[in-house]
Amino acid sequence: MGIPEAVETIRERIQKACSRSGRKTEEVRLMGVSKFHEPPAIEEAWQAGIRLFGESRVQEAAVKFPDFKVKHPETELHMIGSLQRNKAKIVTGLFDMVQSVDRDELIAELGRLTGARKNPMINPLMILLEYHTAEDSKSGYPDLDSLFRAAEKALEFPGLALRGLMTMAPLTQDEAAVRASFRAMVSARDALAAHFPAVDWSCLSMGMSGDFEIAIEEGSTLVRIGTAIFNP
Ligand SMILES: *Cc1c(COP(=O)(O)O)cnc(C)c1O
Repeated sequence: MGIPEAVETIRERIQKACSRSGRKTEEVRLMGVSKFHEPPAIEEAWQAGIRLFGESRVQEAAVKFPDFKVKHPETELHMIGSLQRNKAKIVTGLFDMVQSVDRDELIAELGRLTGARKNPMINPLMILLEYHTAEDSKSGYPDLDSLFRAAEKALEFPGLALRGLMTMAPLTQDEAAVRASFRAMVSARDALAAHFPAVDWSCLSMGMSGDFEIAIEEGSTLVRIGTAIFNP
């Protein structure tokens, strides 16, 4: 199967998962996770209709995406991997969103950098707070308290636009454990939305190649698909 067929297959599976759970297909965005893949493959995914891409390494994205974005200005690029503070400057110049915000000092650094923009509120950097819902992932805020503090911190910076949460479920065949992880996300989002009603919490980034249908059934609004698109 080539990339276009793989994208088509994923779209059909998203549709089915949506109709099973009484949701509209438009509620779920499809990201192509293009890490480790070269520009020709990314171009193929674009031709198949993918507009949102995810990368997990700043250096790699900085090589691949500047030219690609010139060619395809409607490209939206999200950072999904762990981010060191000394790379934050490159990130604010290249990415539209950082999904992997996992500590307050990173919020402060991204906020400082975007605050120096001319009109920080007109062109903000979107961020998601990464929630650690599974033992085998290393990153993410560990609990609700830390998420509350992070949200408060993010609201200090006019150049940051908080849009929701991101998580990685455990890599296991145990469906109950995967569901538990996604349900923890939804309940954290509900608690945060009750406490910070002015924030747009609409983005729930959860679900990868192995578990995106379960994630959609549990309320995901953005699925991050690498293997099933680029190495089907
Ligand atoms: C690599 C990666 C993905 C994509 O994983 P696949 O299983 O290849 O679909 C999604 N999210 C994050 C954070 C990743 O690092």
